[in-house]
Amino acid sequence: MIPVLELSNALLQELVAYVDKRWPLEACGVLAGKDARAEKMIGVLNQAQSKVRFVMDPYEQLHAFDWIESNGLDLVGIFHSHPAGPETASATDIAEAAYPVVQVILSRAGPHWQTRGFWIEDGTASEVTLQITQ
Ligand SMILES: [Zn+2]
Repeated sequence: MIPVLELSNALLQELVAYVDKRWPLEACGVLAGKDARAEKMIGVLNQAQSKVRFVMDPYEQLHAFDWIESNGLDLVGIFHSHPAGPETASATDIAEAAYPVVQVILSRAGPHWQTRGFWIEDGTASEVTLQITQ
């Protein structure tokens, strides 16, 4: 796992705006970057159109992966929202985590969105510190 994922405040605000626009449905997408730094978010349609789960649309996901590769970046994270909380990875998130990357969860149990990172491996979610830079 990686202990820290760095991202700019501008990227964080872009993520919040993206998931907020899709509230109350779960939103999802991928984070592209290098090493332990996310540089770009690409939203992917939530095929499930659900308030409690997400399934990334396979075509849009493939398109996002192609974009990442053709821009010389790597997949460094997967993000999704929990429109009504909780802040942490759910049992479903742990069971369905398919990529060895940071899982960024934006949750809104209260009035504001919270953003936390997790590394899910062998059925356990460990917190990854999100370091926000200017
Ligand atoms: Zn989740």
